[in-house]
Amino acid sequence: MNLILLGPPGAGKGTQAQRLQQDRGLVQLSTGDMLRDAVSAGTEIGKQADAVMKAGKLVSDEIVVGIVAERITQPDCAKGFILDGFPRNVAQAEALDVILAPKGIALDAVVEMVVDDTQLVDRVTGRYTCAKCGTGYHDRNKKPKQDGVCDVCGSTQFKRRADDRAETFPARLAEYHAQTAPLLPYYRAKGVLKQVDGMAEIDEVARQIDKVLGLSRTA
Ligand code: AMP
Repeated sequence: MNLILLGPPGAGKGTQAQRLQQDRGLVQLSTGDMLRDAVSAGTEIGKQADAVMKAGKLVSDEIVVGIVAERITQPDCAKGFILDGFPRNVAQAEALDVILAPKGIALDAVVEMVVDDTQLVDRVTGRYTCAKCGTGYHDRNKKPKQDGVCDVCGSTQFKRRADDRAETFPARLAEYHAQTAPLLPYYRAKGVLKQVDGMAEIDEVARQIDKVLGLSRTA
C-alpha cells in the first residue's frame, strides 16, 4: 500500500507514519527527516536547505523531488511507503506522478489529517524525539513512561527540531495554506483523498486511518 499523509505542521503525520511503519511494515519517507539528515551531515544539499528550513520556508522542488525520486526506487519501498511531508505543492505532486507512473506504482490513498490551526503551535513547540531511535514525544501529550528515558530503546538523549519554535511556526503554517492545501482538490479529483480527525487522541486517529484505508485492527 502506498500512501501520502497530508496536513499542516503538528497535524501528527510523523506520529502516524511511524505507527504505520511499525504495524504494517510500510516505509516512512519523510522529506523533512531526509533534509535534516543532510543538514547534520553537512552535504551540499544540507547547506542549501539549512537556512530555508530554519525560516520555515519550502526547500526548492528540484532538491526534494530529486531526493524522493532516488529514495522511492530503493528495494525496501516495494513493500509500500508512506510519504510524510511530500508533496508540498502541486508541482511536486505532478513530479511524483511522473516518477511513479512509468514504474507502474499507484497511490492507494492520500489521507488528510484535519486539524484546528489554533492548537498546532502548542503541539509543535512541545514535541521532541529520541536522539537514538527517533520515537516522538511531547512535553504534555506524550511523555515517556519513565521521565527522561525513551520507552522504545532506553536512550536518555532527546532532541528538538531547530524549526519547532513559536517564531517560525506562522511562516510554516502560511506555507501550508498557500502551497500545500491546493493538493486537497488535486487528490480529491483523482478520487484518492480520505480525511480523518487529526485532533483526536493518537490511538483514535490511528483507528480512523485504518478504517479509511480498509485495514483490520489486528495486523
Ligand atoms: P517537515 O519535517 O515535513 O515539517 O519539514 C521540515 C522542513 O523541511 C519544512 O519546513 C521545509 O523547509 C523542508 N521540507 C520538508 N519537506 C519538503 C518538501 N516536500 N518541499 C519543500 N520543503 C520541504
